[in-house]
Amino acid sequence: MTDYKRRTKAVHGGIRRSQYGEVSEAMFLTQGFVYETAESAEARFIECGEDEFIYARYGNPTVRMFEERVAALEGAEDAFATASGMAAVNAALTAMLKAGDHVVSAKALFGSCLYILETVLTRYGVEVTFVDGTDLDAWKAAIRPDTKAVFFESVSNPTLEVIDIEAVSRLGHEVGATVIVDNVFATPTFSRSIELGADVVVYSATKHIDGQGRVLGGVILGTREFIRKVAEPYLKHTGGSMSPFSAWLLLKSLETMDLRVRAQAETALALAKGLEGNPKLDRVIYPGLPAHPNHALAMEQTGSGGTVLSVDCGSKEAAFKVLNALEIWTISNNLGDAKSIVTHPATTTHQRLTEEQRADLGITPGLIRLSAGLEDAGDLLSDLETAIAQA
Ligand SMILES: *Cc1c(COP(=O)(O)O)cnc(C)c1O
Repeated sequence: MTDYKRRTKAVHGGIRRSQYGEVSEAMFLTQGFVYETAESAEARFIECGEDEFIYARYGNPTVRMFEERVAALEGAEDAFATASGMAAVNAALTAMLKAGDHVVSAKALFGSCLYILETVLTRYGVEVTFVDGTDLDAWKAAIRPDTKAVFFESVSNPTLEVIDIEAVSRLGHEVGATVIVDNVFATPTFSRSIELGADVVVYSATKHIDGQGRVLGGVILGTREFIRKVAEPYLKHTGGSMSPFSAWLLLKSLETMDLRVRAQAETALALAKGLEGNPKLDRVIYPGLPAHPNHALAMEQTGSGGTVLSVDCGSKEAAFKVLNALEIWTISNNLGDAKSIVTHPATTTHQRLTEEQRADLGITPGLIRLSAGLEDAGDLLSDLETAIAQA
């Protein structure tokens, strides 16, 4: 598969046909596997071959197809699928860290990622330094000779700061640190993270990969060494593995992801352009707009502004009025879905943060996050314009 383009890999990557020659990938909804003899069971526990399985927590043919397909898309050597995006973030960090280790992380993070870095890892004696992810001098100052890992969201949620993967990876590699990127907002369609130097890439498959709001899922991508020697032992013994049913849905979702994500990004750009300059809005944040402070970097890194934009309505009251007046847009907290979704981060996804933390991250009371779906872009824009005019 290595020589083909992403659209081809998204349809054919990782296929394992059974003896029946099915066209659509089979769902192996089985927890265990049968051994012909006691000797073959013993042999498989000594060394499990590429196409052999022991127990679904360790691996399953449908899950393996999903892992190989995403790895092919991302250009990673290997992958391990997890029960959710957070299981992937948690395992990628916890599997490689121990008490006394030092981590440098961007401070603009998804709430649950912040919880893992700020609360879980530090409870086990890992030291974490938070930096402004867009400030390369801050990374340089925080990364020490004993830094073991560097963590950031390549595009942050919900303020859409774009982090320079190549430059931060270079700084991390100077001290031998593992560079871990939570790449949800870039999506596997636009990602060039491995090529740019990231060692480990993590996705919440719940977002664009499923893209239809059905299942939770996650995946860790990296070198065969990291996946098989670091991530797999941790995950197979701690229970964060993906269900074969979810893997089957996500495998089929990958076939259409490229079409969906490109259409959604096109709509997000049209919405950002349509709302830019709206007198009722304080700010329109979208990396695809030339006015965005990291526009050039976003274009160089992924060639797209992505599928999400944020706008500031000025106050919580105005933001709530906009949310409540929308007809097509759904109030929810997922993103990357076929249905356009609007979120008020300050009172939902980022409610747990202190007011100072929110202010520091630019999560103002009037900020709303808009995840562009697959509806008609004109309908979505006029729905927004009407709601904003009423607020
Ligand atoms: C949603 C999200 C996660 C968590 O994914 P789940 O599948 O909900 O567990 C992690 N990181 C980012 C950036 C996300 O948007």
